[in-house]
Amino acid sequence: MSKTETHHFQAEIQQLLNIVIHSLYTDKEIFVRELISNAADACEKLRFNQSSGVVVYQAEVAPAIAVTTDDKAGTITITDTGLGMTHGELVENLGTIAHSGTKAFLKQLAEEKKPDVGLIGQFGVGFYSAFMVAKRVTVLSRSFAPDEQGWQWTSEGGGGYDLTPGADLPRGTKITLELKDDAKDFAQENTVERIIQRYSSFVPFPIELNSKRLNTVQAIWARNKNEIKEEEYNEFYTFVGHDHDKPLFRLHFSADAPLAIQALLFVPGKNFESMGMGRIDSEVNLYCRKVMIQAKAKGLFPEWLRFLKGVVDSEDLPLNISRETMQDTSLMQKLNKVLTGRLLKFLDEQSVKEAEAFEKFYVEYQRFLKEGVATDFTHKEALGKLLRFESSSLDKGKLTSLADYVKRMPAEQKEIFCLLTPNRAAAESSPYFEVFRERKWEVLFLFDPWDEFVMEHLHTFDGKPLKLAEKVDLNLSETKKEGALSEDAAKSLTQWLKESLGDKVGEVRVSQRLVESPAVVVDADKHMTASMRRMMKAMKQDSELAAPMKHDLEINPAHPIMARLDAMRQKDAPLAASVAEQILDNARVAVGLLEDPRTMLNRLNQLLEKVLTN
Ligand code: ADP
Ligand code: MG
Repeated sequence: MSKTETHHFQAEIQQLLNIVIHSLYTDKEIFVRELISNAADACEKLRFNQSSGVVVYQAEVAPAIAVTTDDKAGTITITDTGLGMTHGELVENLGTIAHSGTKAFLKQLAEEKKPDVGLIGQFGVGFYSAFMVAKRVTVLSRSFAPDEQGWQWTSEGGGGYDLTPGADLPRGTKITLELKDDAKDFAQENTVERIIQRYSSFVPFPIELNSKRLNTVQAIWARNKNEIKEEEYNEFYTFVGHDHDKPLFRLHFSADAPLAIQALLFVPGKNFESMGMGRIDSEVNLYCRKVMIQAKAKGLFPEWLRFLKGVVDSEDLPLNISRETMQDTSLMQKLNKVLTGRLLKFLDEQSVKEAEAFEKFYVEYQRFLKEGVATDFTHKEALGKLLRFESSSLDKGKLTSLADYVKRMPAEQKEIFCLLTPNRAAAESSPYFEVFRERKWEVLFLFDPWDEFVMEHLHTFDGKPLKLAEKVDLNLSETKKEGALSEDAAKSLTQWLKESLGDKVGEVRVSQRLVESPAVVVDADKHMTASMRRMMKAMKQDSELAAPMKHDLEINPAHPIMARLDAMRQKDAPLAASVAEQILDNARVAVGLLEDPRTMLNRLNQLLEKVLTN
């Protein structure tokens, strides 16, 4: 007993301990992570010493970590066969503020008026986190230096600690926590197993819990790509992704600048969000040297990449200050930028190298990419490269990229044309498409209701404006059509049509874009498109309340209907007026804009009657 030395904690340590002990901190479980990380560090340092030829006590004992729980005694013990501590090191390391994590935490506390003790979880505060759950902590340690001896360090957290020479101890450190009454759960094997699996699954030294090996999956992201077998990747994916299917894509990469990053990312085979599971959360976990810092790390990727699963490990979040730097959003932003850029580049490469897989990916995940175009200004352009659409130049079902479209553009074409349409058949029979077909200019067919919005945000691609076909002023090539109305006759017909249709239309004019259709409606409002109208219509349950839509009507003077209508208006004005109304309605039907087709049935029946009596 006489050999027991009593030491005082350094004032700052005391301050820290007071916070740790007296704050009701919810994330108490992180003490397991901290003590295991320390044990792993000790193992790492031992291995380093051994490999540099230093003589080591009990050299035959491999570095490893063992955790035991005793629910009867209410204790948890963490033992490692790492490098251990001498008397001097115990005093230095566990009694003064020599290490960075704690220092950073205290600095933050000093800077903040109202310290947020919730930050403890992010800082970790290392060894002292043990006092969140323990009423007494006992450390038995024996240094790897052959001539040293063992020491026992004990503390109840208040004021100081006792140091006593230990008996004949094995090399390494054994830390026993006598748990507080409200923390007895940490003496339960199940609880501790869950915590170790969560934070310490990839610690590179064996961890046993009550003699059962826990960390069997390797941190393969830190290994050389060429040495990893396909099965290992798949096994790892199952582990981190909780998905028994194979991933669609895998990206394993490391970078040194501007940040040291090792990442292993997966695109799951299925889009879980589209499977009625609601909004998914990114399942990319952030590690620092194989110890988990944050599960489902927020901010690591932009929201639109929330389908990714995997691991990002960065040494630039040094274990000690990592929890502080987590708060440092500029570091997160830097990580985010590097990772997102790399992933986009990867996807672009895959679209060439693995075209089939990419197409599958696109079918599953296009909505995420489009969300990105609309919400992420920084990556808009790179995302634009990944978009795919059907096109008038390709067979049904085949998709093109905007880049390939641009390559096919004739020199005189300055814009990229898009047609919003519910399906291929509707696109090909759309009056808006006629002028393009005639000119042999390619049009992208956009089937997804989101596309209009997406194209509006993308705005240009490769310097070429994206233009909706219905908004384009294009003239047919100058070929006189057989039987077309003369310019004057056509003009006078448009005047008559406007008079006859009155308020039902905006302007009536001669069209330059029609080949097969007698007429087409175009939006009087340059900023409103047909699909926006449709969307607004769908949102308004009570369409009677909504103001009736007014479009401009463009007529095709080369169409036989127009020539005959022109003749008819002299002969039978009421019949011609009725036909004019029907032409307007037909034009609306052609582009999916007729509000209620039943309203025209009466008129249509009357017209049929006329036709049949002639
Ligand atoms: P950090 O790990 O951030 O340095 P900690 O509070 O976790 O801070 O630990 C303080 C120091 O105590 C460590 O840097 C290390 O030198 C020493 N230490 C803690 N646990 C062990 C251990 N199991 N074996 C050897 N040294 C340890
Ligand atoms: Mg530590």
